[in-house]
Amino acid sequence: MQNKECCTPQKNRINYQKELEKLLASLEAERISGNGKKKRLLLHACCAPCSSYVLEYLREKFEITVLYYNPNITEREEYEKRSAELKRLARQMNQESAGAGQPEKGSVLTEPAALPSGFILVEEGEWEPQRFFEVSKGLENLPEGGERCFRCYELRLRETARIAAERGFDYFTTTLTISPLKNAEKLNEIGALMAEEYGVAFLPSDFKKKNGYKRSVELSEKYGLYRQDYCGCIFSRAERDRRKADGQPTDAVTVLRKAEL
Ligand code: SF4
Repeated sequence: MQNKECCTPQKNRINYQKELEKLLASLEAERISGNGKKKRLLLHACCAPCSSYVLEYLREKFEITVLYYNPNITEREEYEKRSAELKRLARQMNQESAGAGQPEKGSVLTEPAALPSGFILVEEGEWEPQRFFEVSKGLENLPEGGERCFRCYELRLRETARIAAERGFDYFTTTLTISPLKNAEKLNEIGALMAEEYGVAFLPSDFKKKNGYKRSVELSEKYGLYRQDYCGCIFSRAERDRRKADGQPTDAVTVLRKAEL
């Protein structure tokens, strides 16, 4: 009888954090030996807490424009709240950074010309929840983490790739891999597919690694950021309500640890 284990092909899991580190090192070497300019990155962001660590980590390495494009957030009030927090975070980080010029009071500049290096721009996409409902049709009752979420990732990454290609960015990526509840492998696979389709490079990531998620919690406290306790769509909100009613935890880390037991 054959030993099943030795004959089952093992899928080599890619360490996307390591991939990112390798790429960052080669971009830095290229920058030093070249014209000294940083590459331009279009960073899809879901909310301020997830963006905090990613911006801290990447802002010295790229010229970053943040794209808030989240048609998955069903309620307008919630959508606006997350958007306002993200803009407030960018404003505070810009004001804090040494040597950066001060943005106009209360504004988020959208004109990249003449901005100091490291200045974070924020742009907002359309709020179009009908697009989310179209892609999630028939998958409404799936739990978070399944096929509905993969389509939701694609919807947001596709729009980011499209804009990145149209506007001549060097790279695009998303903050979503920082969440322990998101599938980083799937996000990176979809990112690579979108890169091919739109002809713009995707920055691989697994931002939760190297204490990225932990750091985002610390930064959220530092900036007093609103931390939502559900992902965004009405289906995840219903899941959150069920958990609450059952007396179960709703924060990402506790939910994940319980699921792993
Ligand atoms: S749970 Fe989150 S990722 Fe999944 S479909 Fe809803 S909003 Fe999208």
